[in-house]
Amino acid sequence: MPIFKSRHPDIKFPEDCTIWEWLFAEKSSYSPLNRFPQSDWAGYTDGATKEHLSWKGVKDAATYISTALRSKYGFKADDTISLFSRNTIWYPVVLFAAVRLGGVVSGASPAYNVEEMAYALKTANSKYLATHPTSIKVAEEAARVAGIPKSHIFLLEGELKGYTTIQQLVQMGKDQGEHNQAPVSRLPLGKNNGEVCAFLSFSSGTTGLPKAVMISHQNAIAQALQIEMLKPDDQLRKVIGVLPLFHITGIVHSMILPVFINAEVIMLPAFSMDSMLATVVEYQIPELLLVPPILIRLVRDPTVAKYDLSCVKRFSSGAAPLSAEIIQQLREKFPGTGFKQGYGMTESCSCITAHPPDKYSYDYAHMGGSIVASTEVKLVKDDGTEASIGEPGEIWARGPQIVMGYLNNEKATRETFDAEGFLHTGDQGMIDGEGFITITDRIKEMIKVNGIGVAPAELEDLLLGHVKVEDSAVLGIPDDWSGERPKAYVVLKKGVARSKGIGQELIEYVEENKVRHKWIKEIEFIDEIPKSASGKILRRVLRDKAKQGIQG
Ligand code: ATP
Ligand code: MG
Repeated sequence: MPIFKSRHPDIKFPEDCTIWEWLFAEKSSYSPLNRFPQSDWAGYTDGATKEHLSWKGVKDAATYISTALRSKYGFKADDTISLFSRNTIWYPVVLFAAVRLGGVVSGASPAYNVEEMAYALKTANSKYLATHPTSIKVAEEAARVAGIPKSHIFLLEGELKGYTTIQQLVQMGKDQGEHNQAPVSRLPLGKNNGEVCAFLSFSSGTTGLPKAVMISHQNAIAQALQIEMLKPDDQLRKVIGVLPLFHITGIVHSMILPVFINAEVIMLPAFSMDSMLATVVEYQIPELLLVPPILIRLVRDPTVAKYDLSCVKRFSSGAAPLSAEIIQQLREKFPGTGFKQGYGMTESCSCITAHPPDKYSYDYAHMGGSIVASTEVKLVKDDGTEASIGEPGEIWARGPQIVMGYLNNEKATRETFDAEGFLHTGDQGMIDGEGFITITDRIKEMIKVNGIGVAPAELEDLLLGHVKVEDSAVLGIPDDWSGERPKAYVVLKKGVARSKGIGQELIEYVEENKVRHKWIKEIEFIDEIPKSASGKILRRVLRDKAKQGIQG
């Protein structure tokens, strides 16, 4: 019965403190304020306006805001605030302010419409909402539906008539005087930090409605320690905050971890190739934590050539499979760079596996990394037995970063987190003799052709290697003979006209390169592959489209 263990030494973490105390308490040996000499660069910086907050600045502002929230707005321990905004340096400040009061923070994608946002507010049982002028219309309407009064909606940036701004909250807190700040919330008596929720983070909604995942203080602390251990000796201390903050990747890698390792986070409000690359050059950012759709553009978009990216030492990818084709192109286009991945999910507070520094290499790039510290993995086969080295199975993981469960959803919690503490990821993977895990695909998305599983990612990977293909997504469609067969949605390169001939050419290309059960039944050309802000192909959207096609 193999259980694969991390090869790293175990991490040690305190169980009696909150995230706030861990990062900001005067006596905390983990606090950057105690571990590092204060510098004028560490902190959060707005990539556009250059507004900068040092950790001391973050701590002070969060303290004032929490005092205002508590004394003027009645915010109590366990209350939830939703953050519904594009990235800004004030996002983590409000997050820490709520955490300081023992509150729960729930992030929501700024791409949500009113219905989705109202669902998020109600599911999270939010009483407060912090948003941005660019999201105010949806925020206001969703808050009304969810019963949140306008007085409980705050603006992270800018000003709008009738709304309280974060700067006003800071001022209200200051006005109370230094000695009258709200007290720091302690863990409830008899509970350790693994039993108290800090974040309600929504999963990406790739397979269904997003689920509200309860992340404890301990989950985030442990994950920060697990990842810190994998930082190279040169301690790269500049981070680009381009991935959305509401997602677990943003919470861990753009907000919490940078405080702990004393980095500078350059926040970008949203992704655009030019703003991202200009920022990379301006701040000489050595490591780019990105997702596959952005990496695809990095190798394909001609604007990239305008920038001297020699400062980039390595690329990092996660959230979805990255094709071998794109990995190869990155390697050729950016010689001398390294590469790493992280694999995990909201339910594992980010990473289950990640590359250790001695393997930041393109030779290991197709794998999700090796098991992070204090973590165990089983690969479980269809028949319920455990796979050995080289055999595929469902990835199950156990460790201090595995979260508390889903909010108000006993059934889903029981189905996903077992009695022995293993999270059933729903992903298929394989482990090799060195302890590296390759993620094949999501089990639910595997196409069953005559009972044999075909991973969509494998075919997408092949199609991306065709000279006329810009992007692609593959899913299973019903087939009388085989049960299911793959269908490919293809975006053609600019200047390539759609035709039956090209469809046939691509079908034959797959037939030349893959065994029969992987052959494609159908090709449809589309303008763009639907993808989530967190970087995943939304096959659900394509599936709905395919169904409508059949009905219509
Ligand atoms: P939902 O659970 O709502 O359907 P989701 O699973 O996409 O959405 P997340 O928690 O954001 O929501 O994503 C976790 C999933 O992302 C994993 O289960 C896995 O399928 C995929 N993933 C993450 N990292 C990688 C990686 N490095 N390689 C391949 N897939 C990855
Ligand atoms: Mg999931």
